[in-house]
Amino acid sequence: MYLNVKVRLCVGVMVAPANNGNPVRLKRELLKVIQKRLKGKELKAARSDWHSKRKPIGCGLTIHPGIGCPVGCSYCYIYDMGFSWQVAPYSLNGLQLVAALLFNKYFYPTKWGTYLAFGSVTEPFLPSVLPKTLEYLRAVGEYLGNPCQVSTKMVINDEHLDELARITGSKLSILVTVTSLSQYAHLERRAPHPLKRLELVSRLRSKGFKPFVFIRPLLPGLRVEEVDEIAELAKASGAYGIVVGNLRLSLNIVRRLMREGIDVAKHLKIDLGKLKRGFVDVRVDGALQSLIREGALKKGLIFLKRACCANTVSQLLSGYDDVVCPSLCFLNEQSCEKSCPARCRIRARGEPRHLDFDEVMREVLGSDEYEVEVEDHTLCVKLKRPLRDEKLASFALSYLFRRRVRFVKRF
Ligand code: SF4
Ligand code: SF4
Repeated sequence: MYLNVKVRLCVGVMVAPANNGNPVRLKRELLKVIQKRLKGKELKAARSDWHSKRKPIGCGLTIHPGIGCPVGCSYCYIYDMGFSWQVAPYSLNGLQLVAALLFNKYFYPTKWGTYLAFGSVTEPFLPSVLPKTLEYLRAVGEYLGNPCQVSTKMVINDEHLDELARITGSKLSILVTVTSLSQYAHLERRAPHPLKRLELVSRLRSKGFKPFVFIRPLLPGLRVEEVDEIAELAKASGAYGIVVGNLRLSLNIVRRLMREGIDVAKHLKIDLGKLKRGFVDVRVDGALQSLIREGALKKGLIFLKRACCANTVSQLLSGYDDVVCPSLCFLNEQSCEKSCPARCRIRARGEPRHLDFDEVMREVLGSDEYEVEVEDHTLCVKLKRPLRDEKLASFALSYLFRRRVRFVKRF
């Protein structure tokens, strides 16, 4: 049955009210501007860089301000990916990163565009990486305006915090990682003490940021008392909430965790055959996740199950009251937290009004020969001619409009 049905037949060209109502056209125009500002060699490096090719994952498109990490957390997957204990800032400058993103077919600018997640194969606030992180955030803020997120367990000084606030207008989503209070000395030997990290949360809050405590990875066997204590300290430090995250396992990580006393094999059903072939993402849910949720909600904290949701909620708390999570996790009961203040499921119903709908449709489909019916959270697009890249068009429309997309072919 069709709920909230709206039919459109698009003819002729309509003018977008403003560029930011049409991230697809804005992307094209920005690329022209950036291409004039970079030298040929710089442009070539940007075009061939991985940032110009990667597809966004759950938390967004990962941005690497550095490569490698000397902290050596027992659960860290980067070493099994071939990254080193030595850290080096990333080779691109800020404008080159912007160019690389604009070359990326999966990327769109503006606050409705691609979520950017800083770190991934390094720690973005390491002293030698921080200047690059700041440079990238500045360039993204200046040219693109995308929602950005940093997850960290480093502690930075007030001067850097002020710079971060100046650059991002305190809209940067910051997740401060605390995985354990009792075992951190074994698991995160070279990282600052968790209490120091929680002090950072307080200072972030005082500068206007909307910090969350990030329990990632959520390790099996975390004790009830510790869960309570983390929630208590998160509240006391001024965190807005708690986000839990997956544990990525490889054979090496299992061995390291077992060595540190975390009996992964006892708590999780792991298929060793799969681990031999690479990584397996494990969500330690069920009882442990419910405990954390309960503890957080009891203290008046927001509880979330995904990093992208924390980015969405940070924007909401910063005054963008029309935000909706782009990975459509609100359509999945396992991923969406029902107490979340963002209420994406309600907002993402019916015809999308946050962008210039017809312009974006035409740009993405490359034609104005289509009809659209909006059915609850789904755009049902009736095509009258084949698309060059149907998967990409579906990805772009779904991401930008925050709706499921279904193509119906009529040719
Ligand atoms: S700080 Fe982050 S990147 Fe560095 S080892 Fe730990 S988990 Fe890995
Ligand atoms: S409403 Fe659901 S999908 Fe939206 S941000 Fe909250 S938890 Fe995520």
